[in-house]
Amino acid sequence: MKKKLIAGNWKMNGGLAANEALLTALNAGLDSARADVAVCVPAPYLSQVAALRGGLELGAQDLSAHEAGAYTGEVSAAMLREFGVRYVIVGHSERRQYHGETDDVVARKAQRALAAGLVPIVCVGETLEQREAGQTEQVVKRQLAAVIHLNGHCISEIVVAYEPVWAIGTGKTATPQQAQAVHAVLRAQLQAASAHADRIHLLYGGSMNAANAAELLAQTDIDGGLIGGASLKAPDFLSIVAAASALAT
Ligand code: PEP
Repeated sequence: MKKKLIAGNWKMNGGLAANEALLTALNAGLDSARADVAVCVPAPYLSQVAALRGGLELGAQDLSAHEAGAYTGEVSAAMLREFGVRYVIVGHSERRQYHGETDDVVARKAQRALAAGLVPIVCVGETLEQREAGQTEQVVKRQLAAVIHLNGHCISEIVVAYEPVWAIGTGKTATPQQAQAVHAVLRAQLQAASAHADRIHLLYGGSMNAANAAELLAQTDIDGGLIGGASLKAPDFLSIVAAASALAT
């Protein structure tokens, strides 16, 4: 079994003092971690977190689909690289929903990340309406297909996060069986595109917390978690890391 990856998504939260306290608490508890652990932080804090990250990998929450130039407010892949960023979330449902990001834009962002040597964490997931209409498989396959289409040659370098939109920030979690079923679909799709698909980390995200992490992470095709709310509280995030470590062989 490969080492699990636990990535925190701080979203638009934090402040200099709060970040420092959180990072200090996380690093104090990471010593025995047998999982890769990352924090995806707001862009203005990359420099601060790069200096204080200790054993944590540094991640960003978005990047531009463009290389450089007149794109006010955007942050390029090369800029993220300069701050020591390893992971960058692309296609989070909040970006798709509030910023109109299409499958094509998400695929191009993943392409920019890969070209710069960053690991894109590509988010896919269905809304409640789509799940109730029986469209879950169709939706996540369409979202992932766009990324595979543009990045097929290096698809084994990506991370995929299955994040059912109805489970994000709602306290409703997919059952381990529901999550595993979708992960198996995504794994099969990746296997059809790459001989190295088994090494791709497939993360589950959506109200993962200290209480439900162990059962979710024990599923065959769940290789880690993308954690929103619980990543802002050191004890909760560390409990999830401990659950992942306990599964390491
Ligand atoms: C997320 O934003 O990626 C997420 C999974 O959030 P939460 O854990 O708060 O549901």
